[in-house]
Amino acid sequence: MSATAALRDDILVGEELAHLAVEPAREARTAPIPADLHPAVADALAARGIAELYAHQAEAYTAARGGENVIVTTGTASGKTLAFNLPVLDALAAHRHARALYLYPTKALAQDQARSLAELGVAGVRAAIYDGDTPTEQRRHIRGWASLVLTNPDMLHIGILPRHDLWGDVLHNLRFVVVDEAHVYRGVFGSHVANVLRRLRRLARIYGAEPQLLLASATIANPGELARALTGEDATVVEDDAAPRPERTVALWNPPLLDPDLGLRASALGEASRLLSGLAGHGLRTICFAKSRRAAELIHRFACDRLDASTAARLAPYRAGYTPQQRREIERRLVAGELLGVTSTDALELGIDIGDLDCAISVGFPGTVASLRQQWGRAGRRDHGLAILVASEDALDQYFMRDPEALLARNVEAAILDHANPRVLDGHVAAAAFEAPVDDGDAATLGEEALMRAPHVAELRQTPRGWVWAGKDAPAARVPLRSTSADAFLVVDASTGETLGLAELERAYSTVHEGAVYLHLGRQYLVRELDLHARRALVEPFDADWYTQAKKETETAIEEPLRVERRLGLELSFGRVSVTERVVGYQKKAVADGATIGTFPLELPPTTFDTEAVWFVPRPHQLEGLEAMPLLLSSLHAAEHSLIALLPLWAMCDRWDIGGLSTNLHLDTGAPTVFVYDGHAGGVGIAERGFEQFEGWVADTARLLAGCPCERGCPSCVQSPKCGNLNELLDKGGALTLLRRMVDCG
Ligand SMILES: [Zn+2]
Ligand SMILES: [Zn+2]
Repeated sequence: MSATAALRDDILVGEELAHLAVEPAREARTAPIPADLHPAVADALAARGIAELYAHQAEAYTAARGGENVIVTTGTASGKTLAFNLPVLDALAAHRHARALYLYPTKALAQDQARSLAELGVAGVRAAIYDGDTPTEQRRHIRGWASLVLTNPDMLHIGILPRHDLWGDVLHNLRFVVVDEAHVYRGVFGSHVANVLRRLRRLARIYGAEPQLLLASATIANPGELARALTGEDATVVEDDAAPRPERTVALWNPPLLDPDLGLRASALGEASRLLSGLAGHGLRTICFAKSRRAAELIHRFACDRLDASTAARLAPYRAGYTPQQRREIERRLVAGELLGVTSTDALELGIDIGDLDCAISVGFPGTVASLRQQWGRAGRRDHGLAILVASEDALDQYFMRDPEALLARNVEAAILDHANPRVLDGHVAAAAFEAPVDDGDAATLGEEALMRAPHVAELRQTPRGWVWAGKDAPAARVPLRSTSADAFLVVDASTGETLGLAELERAYSTVHEGAVYLHLGRQYLVRELDLHARRALVEPFDADWYTQAKKETETAIEEPLRVERRLGLELSFGRVSVTERVVGYQKKAVADGATIGTFPLELPPTTFDTEAVWFVPRPHQLEGLEAMPLLLSSLHAAEHSLIALLPLWAMCDRWDIGGLSTNLHLDTGAPTVFVYDGHAGGVGIAERGFEQFEGWVADTARLLAGCPCERGCPSCVQSPKCGNLNELLDKGGALTLLRRMVDCG
């Protein structure tokens, strides 16, 4: 038995251990280095001691060399990078003029990749990063010299495509476009990036190139669909992971239940610090991921308090804002064993370039199984590893604690996006027309929908050459890639003047109203001022143990049902709705126990946006015994909350990406109705996925409610941290009755 395995029996004991599983070791399946691989690449592999490939790497190489687009979706640390690098390097080594473009979601990841390409050192391949940090005087040189350009979607969108005249040589010779971490491109961001990639394909075609598309993604339910949605082209899916895997222990850890009636549990942070200090105290190198910087700091501090001074000195926090050098130094010390424990926010999970640790602790489900696997993948790459999820009180976390198979064995989570959402598409149609006149021939790259939208886009003019841009400035600069609304508030740190992000108009009033606590990269900020005219929120760094929850009134109107089906004994609809919200106040609540500290009124104008929703009208027999008010409303409301809590299990999204409304009498249906809608204007496909997966989604939700040990509803089942009614009028029993009756009709 290995040291880790022995310790596991020491530390992982007690009622907190909700589930313990051992994922068995797996032997590698290998394939020889392809005989047709360019000698320069083969030499570089040999120099690095790589004598054979994993079977999936060879499979990806063969498919790519045969001219296919490919998406590789094998596990963390399975050598995905080499899988797409091989065909690219092969082509670049063989053809002096050939070019490749690599897309990374963050600058840090592009740097990691540039470094590993440099280490591989293939003769004749010239790689360079081109992003916002690239000095102006170097840019021209890179465009002319580099055969492999690493960049990010934002740079491609506003820096490269609108100035394609400067990139003519690159576009003309573009052989490959690589999209790494493709699962990150989902939701609003993914819908935009899908259009940026279509614009890139179109310009390449104008310059005479048809680049192959190579994608790599974490394990998801729909890799082929994601590749198609993201690029507009079909891709061969390579998913049979042939990398070796050491044995790994997986533990689900649930903080003890302090008050069963209220569903109140001990703090996940305290439990995490106990595990971290226990593991580090035994000399095991451990990384701990928390959801906010504040949480990471508390875990670090509590863990130090539990250890003697010399061991405590070997723990460190890992923060956003470190320079690349500082980060590399921490990573080096951790791998070398000088450091034993590092706590980080999960915002940094992709940026951490380390493997080979003994243990990984995730504090709170990070939102997607792909993220969790990414975090866990740090543990035990060579030897037995230990991966732990410490549950928060959140409904999805508690669902996993009771039904571990839902987390460990099912693969239902799909990366969803919708490039054709007009709120996303229109800006890119304008940008494309700015780049070159858009005509019917462009439907092949931009998509039919782009041509259909062109007449509706202001500042486009129809000419004999096609649709052209008649405005003044470059339209791409007006299209933020992380919003479906050009009408967004800038969030500015008043202490530094730095812009932290954007809040879409639809959500600004509930997230950055005066007095709100705003979270950015795991850090807390207090909103000092919301300037409605300047569309700006001024915030400042802030350190306190309370958060805020907005109180709002919501109405929905059905604009157009698009799909109506008889499902689970009732009429289920998917379609377009308009949502009107008015934020009327907010509450301050204690982080420790959620207790209300105070309620404050706000006066803000209403906002209305169009989006997509799934909605249903329960049949009278499904509501039998629940008809009296307020029981009827409370039952529907509780059902709505718990459905929203579990939708991220089916569609990769955050519960903050989804909204809901339940009413005992809706004007459009004339009956009791529950709506779950896409929180982003226009919708990005989340509600439609809910419609398609309705049976499984409802069954999961009924199981969630049936399994929660609380008496009358708690944060782990029917209460929601974003309820506009501040969690009033919720009846867990009524919701369970309704959902069970629906499942029984299936
Ligand atoms: Zn509960
Ligand atoms: Zn609610």
